[in-house]
Amino acid sequence: MKEPIRIAYLYEDLMNTYGDSGDVKILRYWLNQQGYTVQVDNVSLGVAFNAADYDFVFFGGGQDYEQTVVAKDLPRFKETLTQYIEAGRPMLAICGGYQLLGAYYKTADGTTIKGLGILPLHTVFKADARMIGDTEFTTEFGTVKAFENHSGRTYFDDKQMLRPLGKMVQGYGNNPDDGVEGMRYKNTFGSYAHGPILRNANIAKAIAQLIVTSHEQRVGQPTA
Ligand code: GLN
Repeated sequence: MKEPIRIAYLYEDLMNTYGDSGDVKILRYWLNQQGYTVQVDNVSLGVAFNAADYDFVFFGGGQDYEQTVVAKDLPRFKETLTQYIEAGRPMLAICGGYQLLGAYYKTADGTTIKGLGILPLHTVFKADARMIGDTEFTTEFGTVKAFENHSGRTYFDDKQMLRPLGKMVQGYGNNPDDGVEGMRYKNTFGSYAHGPILRNANIAKAIAQLIVTSHEQRVGQPTA
């Protein structure tokens, strides 16, 4: 019997807008195809969490209010998540979750929601237009089609360290200025793409493969 693959879904009950929990369901499908069982834990408010116990961490999107609630609980994860990310273990953060990996998110009412500050990026609101609609962007995994719905505009503070996940063909992505979507740092991915993003099988299969490798490293057993 193979050991189950363990996925931590950060604040599953709060951070799950526009079907983002579908990303975890799709990963479960691809991992099941490879003969793995998958255990998903909802790591929500007050729940103990050691990232090293997991093969994958998922952080979905949320509205400003949910982000405010989550941001208060989040700092206790900074150390464990920093170690996890720096070790090159896989993580996917969408929209509100992506924003919270950075330094801060300044919202429409002028509130600054403090992020984890693990990745050098920040997000600001600008009064003109909400970025909403279908998106298409090209990535190292091929073309990804999704949709976006966010007010926050994300900018990288260190363009050497972070690279964009994709180049926009349609839509806004990180912001209306840079023509890029999302972020990759080691095996941590951030994106504004809902839909969910992993309905694009190219990127879903690539992330599932990273999870299998991460799992093998954690439990120390070959997949065969
Ligand atoms: N509240 C954030 C914004 O509007 C994120 C929205 C989301 O996660 N869908 O930018």
